[in-house]
Amino acid sequence: MSTEQPPAVVRRGTNLDRVGEFNDTVVLAAIRRAEERLSRVELAAATGLSGQAISNITRRLLDAGLVREAGRQKGGGLGKPRTLLELEPTGQYAVGVHLDPSVVTVVVLDLTGQVVARRRTETPAADDPGVLIDGIARTIEDLIAEADVPRERVVGVGIAAPGPIDVERGVVVDPPNLAAWHLVPLRDALRDRTGLPVLLDKDVTAAASAEKWAGGPNGRGSFVFFYLGTGVGAGLVIGDEVVRGSTSNVGEIGHVIADPDGPLCYCGRSGCVGETSRPRYLVQQAVQAGVLAQGIDLDDRHAVDAAFSALCTAAGQGPGVAREILTALAERIAKVVEDIANLLDLDRVVFGGPLWDRLAPFFDEPIRAAPAERFLVRSVHPLQIAGTSLGADVGAVGAASLVLDHTFSPNPSVLLPGTAQLVPRVGALGTWKVMS
Ligand SMILES: [Zn+2]
Repeated sequence: MSTEQPPAVVRRGTNLDRVGEFNDTVVLAAIRRAEERLSRVELAAATGLSGQAISNITRRLLDAGLVREAGRQKGGGLGKPRTLLELEPTGQYAVGVHLDPSVVTVVVLDLTGQVVARRRTETPAADDPGVLIDGIARTIEDLIAEADVPRERVVGVGIAAPGPIDVERGVVVDPPNLAAWHLVPLRDALRDRTGLPVLLDKDVTAAASAEKWAGGPNGRGSFVFFYLGTGVGAGLVIGDEVVRGSTSNVGEIGHVIADPDGPLCYCGRSGCVGETSRPRYLVQQAVQAGVLAQGIDLDDRHAVDAAFSALCTAAGQGPGVAREILTALAERIAKVVEDIANLLDLDRVVFGGPLWDRLAPFFDEPIRAAPAERFLVRSVHPLQIAGTSLGADVGAVGAASLVLDHTFSPNPSVLLPGTAQLVPRVGALGTWKVMS
């Protein structure tokens, strides 16, 4: 997706202004990714660019309001102390929208990736996509106003949506649990309503990307982000790179069979992990076991969500049937996680998603207790189990960080005339142009 290294050789002829744009993003990315503020000399060393080039580029980035000077390097050494550079948080902003069948989360991130405004609303029970998209557009405008962000500094909107998606056309294909959604052109609909550039990606990929950028040690190396929402899914980061698959639809694990004696799934098989992880199924189990009262309308998402919270509360009160229902859920998921970890030789599984806060207390022990012989490489290295540190906003934060990445990460294709895709222009912020 991106690289910190400029290409050693440019094999095709290219315009000088494109090289300039590319090098600007290389320097900006080096500043973004550095754990500490960098001096111009350190930037030259990190990027392989000459001191003169760094001087010109940092002047442009300072003039554009994307970086700022922030103190001087302390310590000994020859010469005068070097001026340090860091991102200017207010330089640009990105909006992230996470569309889950039960909750819509919208955040505004500043250039450093900090959330400056957020709102969570229940997804309207009426499934009409138009109503929902209008609501999202209004929320975006409200949040931009509330955060007091100059609109011209909003580079774009990222949407994290349930798969499968058609990234090329910006279309949500057939999300499970959103009955009225079929081939909804979400990206263009939201672009038309807001006038802002819009990116669409899968919820689990956005979550994995957020973890990679903002999750600290959890986000390093190779991990799966196991998403627990109205559906389940897996976002993948292998060797520090977000993996998307051939059509950005990686991670559809909902139909892995976790309990052959389980309920019938809409795919025609029994006991799929997605079906047996749904709050609806768990609530139904709890009603049958007498933990929850009869009479819950299982077709009412909000009633099911409230009943699911009651089940988690009951399970938290100690051993008993409620606890057993959630422990069995954790054991089914542990089985799936082990298969993924074995297949991909992962360092870690990171759990998150709208259900995670409520389920976290019941997962640690069953998953840690999974027999070592099932996780085959455990004799070589341990499999770490973690919860996301980004909370319930992780999908929305991820969606916004994809916009920042897309806009401000070096993309070697900028150098190649003839590639038709959206490319960022640091010199013309807020506009994405189609290169052809
Ligand atoms: Zn299924």
